[in-house]
Amino acid sequence: MQLRINNLSKTYSNGKQALKDISLTIDNGMFGLLGQNGAGKSTLMRTIATLQDADQGSILLDNLDVLRQPEEMRKLLGYLPQDFGVYPNVSATEMLDHIAGMKGISIRKERQEAVQELLQRVNLYDVRHRKLSTYSGGMKQRFGIAQALLGNPRVIIVDEPTAGLDPLERNRFYNLLSEIGSNTIVILSTHIVEDVSTLCNDMAIIGGGSVLQAGSPSEIEQML
Ligand code: ADP
Ligand code: ADP
Repeated sequence: MQLRINNLSKTYSNGKQALKDISLTIDNGMFGLLGQNGAGKSTLMRTIATLQDADQGSILLDNLDVLRQPEEMRKLLGYLPQDFGVYPNVSATEMLDHIAGMKGISIRKERQEAVQELLQRVNLYDVRHRKLSTYSGGMKQRFGIAQALLGNPRVIIVDEPTAGLDPLERNRFYNLLSEIGSNTIVILSTHIVEDVSTLCNDMAIIGGGSVLQAGSPSEIEQML
């Protein structure tokens, strides 16, 4: 699949222009969106995830007009927001089962199988009955990836997923992301250069709401 972002602009109602004429083409594989705090990464991610509107421009996923067909986009999407909320009094199993239901996996047995498979994949199976509130930061992020992967999405958006993780947990998280199939688009936003150089085949540097550079990590390194 291919995601094409064309001339996307967004000004918030307080007058802050968060996106300025952003154009990017994103193919299957890992794409890194590198930028400092306030660069516009979350705004762009939320717009692709159809959680907020742009003022101008379009987003196409192959032939799907993402901003005009948000329900269709959501069926294809897995999203781990930066401020992913945790639900203190439920276990990982309960929460994933609930999210699987919301994603339309209506057959109970199918849901249970999908949830078990994911818990094993993110290495949380042994702690699946513990309340999410007792999880460490790294465990919470692995849980966050599990919920994003439910329903086999074709586009996965992860917003600043490694911020605050220690080196061991960051490596575990890298391994998880690198195991996602190569026929999936994964967009990773980060302010950590190592995240993109380790994981991504393509990347863009975003600053002040604009694309400053786009290319492979090695191409961009040469330009810097
Ligand atoms: P829109 O222009 O898309 O309608 P708003 O300006 O109404 O967006 O803001 C949406 C929400 O984001 C509001 O709840 C607002 O308080 C909050 N918000 C405002 N400024 C910021 C900021 N700098 N960073 C993050 N959230 C903010
Ligand atoms: P990043 O994810 O790269 O840190 P954001 O997309 O969160 O960047 O923010 C881009 C700019 O838009 C920042 O200046 C931020 O303060 C502002 N901003 C973000 N959300 C809102 C909002 N809801 N209302 C007003 N301003 C916002």
